[in-house]
Amino acid sequence: MIVSTVDLAPPLHEGGFLAIAAEHIGKGLRQVMEAERRRRRAAVADTLALIASLNEQWGQPELEALAGAFAMLPGAHAAQLGVGANRLAGVLDAAAGPLTGELVERSFTIDERVQADVVIAFREEPTSEQTTVLNEILTTLAANLSRIEQNIRLTSEAETDQLTGVANRRRVGKSLAAARAMADRRNEPFAVLLFDLDHFKSVNDQLGHAVGDQVLMEFAVLLQANVRPFDTVARWGGEEFMLLCPDCGVSGAVAISQRVLDQCPGSFDEILPPEMRQTTSVGIAVYPEHGRTPESVIRAADEALYRAKREGRDRWSAAGVPSIV
Ligand code: GH3
Ligand code: MG
Ligand code: MG
Repeated sequence: MIVSTVDLAPPLHEGGFLAIAAEHIGKGLRQVMEAERRRRRAAVADTLALIASLNEQWGQPELEALAGAFAMLPGAHAAQLGVGANRLAGVLDAAAGPLTGELVERSFTIDERVQADVVIAFREEPTSEQTTVLNEILTTLAANLSRIEQNIRLTSEAETDQLTGVANRRRVGKSLAAARAMADRRNEPFAVLLFDLDHFKSVNDQLGHAVGDQVLMEFAVLLQANVRPFDTVARWGGEEFMLLCPDCGVSGAVAISQRVLDQCPGSFDEILPPEMRQTTSVGIAVYPEHGRTPESVIRAADEALYRAKREGRDRWSAAGVPSIV
């Protein structure tokens, strides 16, 4: 049975999203017993605290965290989101007993302009208690959406690179702290990949700054296309970009690098003349193998990048991995 279906198409900033969300989130869920109210309130408060902590940990817009909270309902592929998957289930357990219904359907499309489709469906009917708790949680979330919306706007503006639309250094700082906390908790690595466009100065010199800007924008698109949704793509400096990939070791980082290296020259066909082959160099380092702090991992990645440049550019180099030239 479908417990809740939310179909939210209008852009966030048009306000329609909020109205529709408030109307639809929690639709189909039933009202219940007075005696449970207190515990349910606690569950809702816990969920909101969870969302706030997800934001802190991940440095992501609140609505992404909201999507994460939905995705953490039992049965969802929560690990994919790389966040404390059991927290929401724990909240529900504490308030109403474990959910027996398996989550069979879920979809999210949430980006900065917010296209949100939220479908929550269970194979079996949850108990009325569980339904109530879910209802309260979802209703509370919906009621908080305007505050969330405001925060998303402010946060994303302050943490976004104006030219390319990817994260800026401020956002990376938060994401690194979150990645480290998660890596420690789950005993997993995370990878930092530093990309620096090769001989980029000559693009500016020969074709002008505006063309250079287009190349930077296209390169950001290329990176975004080659990572998972929960990886961070950031502009690190002028023509330097960073990928931050949770739950990713050296071999995963090498695979991403190789894909980007392969696709790089072909990505600028509409911007650069055929004789200009734009390549990139990549430096890879992994926490905690190559550094015990985010700063030292970045330093190791930077050194690896420098080595890739020295050894001829258009290649990756990883900390702790011998050169292949
Ligand atoms: P290398 O292969 O050693 O990295 O050579 P390079 O020419 O890429 O390196 P260099 O550091 O000499 O030049 C980087 C250039 O990037 C110089 C700078 O003008 C350009 N740049 C930095 N930020 C921007 C930007 O926002 N727009 C444009 N168009 N160019 C930028
Ligand atoms: Mg550079
Ligand atoms: Mg360069």
